[in-house]
Order: sequence, then structure tokens, then C-alpha cells
Amino acid sequence: GTQIVWFRRDLRIHDNKALYSALEHLKEDDKLLLLYHIHPDLTDAFTKRHDYYYEALYDHVQKIEQQGGSLHFITGSVEEAFQSLFSIVDDCTAIHVNVDDTPFARERDQFVQQLAEKQNIRYYNYTDAHLHGAQEIVKKDHSHYQVFTPYYKQWINRTKERPCHIDLSQLRDVIQKRTDDFTEGQKQFGTLMQRKTGIWKKMAGSDRAFEQLQAFITKGLITNYNSDRDRPDFDGTSRLSAYLRTGAISPRTVYAAVQKYIDESSNDEGANTFIQELAWRDFYNMIYYRYPTSKDEEIISKYQQLQWSYDEERYHHWQNGTTGFPIVDAAMRQLNEIGWMHNRLRMIVASFLAKDLQLDWRLGERYFQDHLIDYDPASNIGGWQWAASTGTDAVPYFRIFNPTRQSERYDPDGTFITSYLPELKEVPLAFIHEPSKMSESEQEDAHCIIGSDYPKPIVSHQEMRQKTLERFKEIQ
Ligand code: FAD
Repeated sequence: GTQIVWFRRDLRIHDNKALYSALEHLKEDDKLLLLYHIHPDLTDAFTKRHDYYYEALYDHVQKIEQQGGSLHFITGSVEEAFQSLFSIVDDCTAIHVNVDDTPFARERDQFVQQLAEKQNIRYYNYTDAHLHGAQEIVKKDHSHYQVFTPYYKQWINRTKERPCHIDLSQLRDVIQKRTDDFTEGQKQFGTLMQRKTGIWKKMAGSDRAFEQLQAFITKGLITNYNSDRDRPDFDGTSRLSAYLRTGAISPRTVYAAVQKYIDESSNDEGANTFIQELAWRDFYNMIYYRYPTSKDEEIISKYQQLQWSYDEERYHHWQNGTTGFPIVDAAMRQLNEIGWMHNRLRMIVASFLAKDLQLDWRLGERYFQDHLIDYDPASNIGGWQWAASTGTDAVPYFRIFNPTRQSERYDPDGTFITSYLPELKEVPLAFIHEPSKMSESEQEDAHCIIGSDYPKPIVSHQEMRQKTLERFKEIQ
């Protein structure tokens, strides 16, 4: 018979639980068919994230071809695609997938599972994208955690699975290449590949992911992660997010490498903080699972009454990095240029949008969706609802980030700011966080006229802070 491995957000061969388990389940003479479903949404939209994702998908296809097989594409709606799949592969006995806990994927997978089981095809699923799945860590009374710290206490004490080792010679013996049966899918894949721009080529795929993980550890960034991770002017974080998102690397592999470093090192403070970030990733995945409507709705229900602004001009300034607050503007230009933004900056710009501009946090969430190559609905919604004070374990509404103080603290020399805002290159350090404070002659000396070379602040932080406090106070 044939067993199928259906890839989704797990674009790798190495340490892939569905693939590993399928190989374990194979009986003598069984063959393995590797599958990818091109969802119609994927062909309709084109953003940085799609561009990046295509590059990761292309890398995965090549890795499979290197093992003598191919990735088989099916197309159309889930219903059409899988019905025709099961009729083409008429000796199919099992389908293996790695769990995707997002609401969209749950509905899709439930359909495929039912369809498969009706035809006596076994459906197996595995927790792979997270160290602990969305339903794994619960309170004693089986309810879910709302607050990170007690969740983390249980998370850290749970045994973590080791990476699973794929036997490549076994894979080569059983992997199929049925290209004749999947020509339509192959054609659509070709069309997708024509759309990719190639700019992410050097930043996608499993080899790059490993290199990135190794560099993070061997260059000592992990050692100083505790102190450096909040500094956008240092390259102090792992930059693994887009690899984790596409599944070019598994969280087990990352965890095991960091654990090995901890075992061998005398300074594990940075590594432990890093592991805590992997727990945040699982926490937000759990929260999104529990609150599947949180992309559109405030998790704390009383805040669903908050009135938000939709002022287009302000939104436009925020998007383009022309707010007159250098740290916000540099951050937004980083996002627009490289499709990634430092975590501290994500917190600053999200707080700025929701609290200083009083714009609907959903506008920010959607902008990130279109521009982040690491866009992950659970982490993004979690981050946005944290910053807007509307989520579980969010920043309290009365703790409002002052963008200028944040800037002084986390980019003290203004090097991050000037790397994205060349118009501020000659502004003296004393004014780099607030260039509008320069006198006319200082502006001339710095070749930076406020209002023409660089904008005046579009709002007053103090004023907006007061207004935001009042808005939230009304609903307490
Ligand atoms: P590192 O600091 O090296 O962290 C290692 C890994 O831990 C990351 O790759 C990521 O997988 C995970 N991680 C770190 N911080 C968080 C966090 N706060 N929440 C969840 N997981 C975390 N992360 C995304 O992956 N996708 C998103 O769409 C996303 N949107 C965000 C939106 C907002 C408003 C905020 C405040 C944060 C968001 N984050 C998101 C979390 C975080 O900013 C990024 O994961 C991080 O900046 C990625 O860079 P890195 O890989 O160098 O992180």
C-alpha cells in the first residue's frame, strides 16, 4: 500500500515527526508519497510572507529530490483536492500529518480526517511545531492557563521530546516519484515559483536554519542573550522565527542544541531566558487555540466595547515610518525593508499604534501579517493583544510605553535609528531620540530641517497618554 505524509508548516525532512512516524509504520512493500496541498488562498495573495514561504517550499522540494523522490502537489479546495487524491492513490492505507492548531487548519484537518476514515485510511497526527501542544499543559482542574508564569512553571518541568532521526537510506528506498498523476499540481507549483522574487533565497530553508542556530550558539550570542536581546542596535537574537514558522527547523532541534550548550557551559543565564521565549511561543499557541476568535475580538471581553480610531492619515504615517518618533519610524522601515522586526521594536510600535495613535490594534495586526516573513497568527495576535492591554497576561493599560524613553534606553547611541533613517545621520546624540527639539540653527547644522527632511511628531505623547488612560478607565 501507499502511506502519505502531508507537509504544511513543517517544510523539512530532518527531525520531522510525521515523516519519521510514517517510516516507522511502513510495512514491507509499502511506499511513501510526500504531499503538499496548494490552497487557493496561496495563489490569490502575494506578500513578503508568501514570497519567503515559496522560497522555503522550493528548498523543501529540492531536498526531497536529492533523496530521489518528489513532492506531489494537489490543488483546488480541500474537498476537491483530497477527494481526487484518494481516488488517484487507490491503495492508500494511511495519512500522516503534524498538528496545526490554528482555527483554519483544525477545520481543514477535521474534514480530511473524516474523509480518510470513511475510506478506511488511517489518519495519524503528531505534535511537531511546538514543544508542548495547545492542549497539553492545563491546570489541575483541566482549565487552561491565562497567565504565563504558572504555565511556564509546568512547561519547564515537563520532559521535552528529543529530535527524531530520519533514516535517509530507508527513505530513499520507499519514496515515490509519481509525477504523471500530479501534473496539474506540478503546473501550479511552477506558476507559484515564477512569482517568487528570489530575494529571500539566502534566508530560507533547512540548511540556513541550521547555520543560523549554530552561529547563534557558537558566536556567543546566546551567552549574552539575557542582556542583549532587548537591544535592536545589536544583532543579539537568534533570528530563527521565520525558520520556525515555515518549519525549516523544528523546535526540538533548537531546544536540544540549546540544552547541549547549557550542559557544557558555565553561564546558562542567556540560554535559560532563550528557552523561556520558546515557551512564550507555545503559550500563545495555546491561547489562540482557546480563543479562536482573538484575531478579531479582544480576549478580555469588557474591552470589546473600547472605541478605536481608523484615522487613515495616522495609520499611513505609522505604516511608512513618518510619525516623527525616530524609534517608531526606524522600526517600521526595518519591517518594510527586511520583513522582520526586533521584538523590543514590535512592542514599541504596537504600543504606539494602540495607545499613542489610538488606532485599532487589528489594523496593526493585519499590517504585520502582510509584512512579516515570520508571521504567525498565534504569536502575532498574542503580541498585539499584549500591547493593546486587551489580551490575557497583557501589559496593564496604565503602563504606557513612552517611545522616547524606550528609545533612549534600548538604542542609547541612536545607531539603530540612523541605520534606517539616514536623514538623521548628522543629528547630535543629544537630539537623536527627539530631533524636533533642535533649534533652527541646530537643524541647519545637522542638515535636517524638521517638517521637511524629517517630520514633526504627529501626536503629543503626553496628551495621547492621558486620553488613552481615560478611555480605559471608563470601562474598569
Ligand atoms: P529570539 O529572541 O531569538 O527568540 C527565539 C524564538 O522564540 C523566536 O524565533 C520565536 O519563535 C520565539 N519567541 C520569541 N519571543 C516571542 C514572543 N514574544 N512570543 C512568541 N514567541 C516568541 N513572533 C513570530 O514568530 N511571529 C509573529 O508574527 C510575531 N508577531 C509579534 C507581534 C508583536 C506585536 C510582538 C510584540 C511580538 C511578536 N512576535 C512574533 C514575537 C517576537 O517578536 C518574535 O518571535 C521575535 O522578534 C523573532 O526574532 P528572533 O527569532 O530573533 O527571536
